[in-house]
Amino acid sequence: MEVEGFILSEVPYGDTSKIVNIFTNDGVIGCIAKGAKSLKSNLRVNTSKFTYGKFLIDKKDNNKLSLLKEAVSINELVNIKNDLLLISYLSYIVELTNQVIKQTYEFDNLYNLFINVILKMNNKLNPKVLTNIYELKVLDYLGVGINFNSCSKCGNKKDILTIDGDIGGYVCKNCFTNEFIYDDKTIKMLRMYYLIDVSSISELKISDTVINNIDRFINIYYDRYTGLYLSSKKFLNSIDKMY
Ligand SMILES: [Zn+2]
Repeated sequence: MEVEGFILSEVPYGDTSKIVNIFTNDGVIGCIAKGAKSLKSNLRVNTSKFTYGKFLIDKKDNNKLSLLKEAVSINELVNIKNDLLLISYLSYIVELTNQVIKQTYEFDNLYNLFINVILKMNNKLNPKVLTNIYELKVLDYLGVGINFNSCSKCGNKKDILTIDGDIGGYVCKNCFTNEFIYDDKTIKMLRMYYLIDVSSISELKISDTVINNIDRFINIYYDRYTGLYLSSKKFLNSIDKMY
């Protein structure tokens, strides 16, 4: 069968072959790419980690490894691959996706979201915004989605005053104690991030203040609620400070 997919990881297999894990809209397919490390093999190109392509696969059932027969690139993602910061963002998105995949059986929307975020990043749209959008949307798969309709303490739908990463969402006037008060634009934009169809984005006009506020909120929320500690995120945060 022929599938579209994205290679999340590759591991050596014997002297000349490797195993690639291809994320598709039907989940991850583990494949042996026989001879892929030898110079003459037609599988030498397009079987590396972070390849987005079409794959001809001899699919095996019962968790056995399938056989990869052909690999053709759909998009080389050159803008990402020539930019250390963007590679760091991509590495984080892939590591996060590996965790999300473990928590779900519904892959179609997740796969499309994942690919669209990467393609927009390759089109030079703001990688921090795209990553934050992705982080927000996959919270539902991780079972810790944010309620964007009401106060997370009392359920009040009116008088929302701020958001708080530790409390886990909106805080209304009645429940407010001493939380940081984010401005209205940040609160509205956070909801937009969650609702937007990534494939429809052609440009992003968001102030740096709002972008950094939302990133701060999401980082606190992730630390508090997801239980994920990803090494690529730590690296990304350190490299992001240099730009
Ligand atoms: Zn409340």
